[in-house]
Amino acid sequence: MSIVESSRRIHRGGSNEGNLSIRGQKDRMGFLKKVVFLDRDGTINRDSADYIKSRAEFDFLPGSVEAIRNLTANGFTSIVITNQSALARKFISSAELDAMHAMMCRTVASGGGKISDIFCCPHMPDEGCECRKPAPGLIHQARQKYNIEIADSIMVGDSAKDIACGRNAGCGKTVLVKSGLDPDVAKKLNKKQISADFVAGNLLKAAEWIITSITLVIFQF
Ligand SMILES: [Mg+2]
Repeated sequence: MSIVESSRRIHRGGSNEGNLSIRGQKDRMGFLKKVVFLDRDGTINRDSADYIKSRAEFDFLPGSVEAIRNLTANGFTSIVITNQSALARKFISSAELDAMHAMMCRTVASGGGKISDIFCCPHMPDEGCECRKPAPGLIHQARQKYNIEIADSIMVGDSAKDIACGRNAGCGKTVLVKSGLDPDVAKKLNKKQISADFVAGNLLKAAEWIITSITLVIFQF
C-alpha cells in the first residue's frame, strides 16, 4: 500500500466494524451536526515523547472514557483525528495501530460511549502532505465521508497543531485540553496569533463545556 493510500485508510475500531453509517443529528439539508473531532495522544490517552507504539503503551487519561460517553449521550458524534508519524517511522505497524484503535473503541463502547470513526495521518512532518495537523486534510476527509456541517463542529486537542487544524478546517469552536506533554502550547498559539475558544484541564471538562454551551448555540441555528 502506498503512503497516500494508507493516509486514506480509516482505522476503525472493532465496535464499529460493519457499521458505516453514523446516526447523528442531521439538519434539513442532511448535514451531520454536533460533531466533535478529538485528537488522540494527550487528549484521550497519555502521550509519550517516545510515541505510542503498542496496545501495552496505550493508557486512557482519567475521565476520557466518561467524557466520550457524555458526548455520545448528549447526541454528539465523536470522530478521532490523529497524526501518527509513528507509522512512517516504522515504530508501529498498521496492524498494531488498527488493533490499538479497536481496543480503544471497545473500551469506549463498554463505557457507554462511541467513537464513530478514526482518521489518521501516517506521514512524516516534512512530507508536505495535506492531512498532517495543523493541515485540515483529515477533517476534510471526514466531512466528505459523512457530510458534516463543519461550522457547527468542534475540534478538541492538547496541542497548538490541533487548535490550528480546527481553525484551518473551519470548525465553529476549538477546545484546548491541558492534558498533554507540551508546556509551550500557549506560547505556540500566541505565535500563531490564534487562541482556543475554551481551555479545559482534561477531556471530561472539555466535554462538559461542549455539552452545556455548544448545545445551546447549535440549537439556536
Ligand atoms: Mg495530542
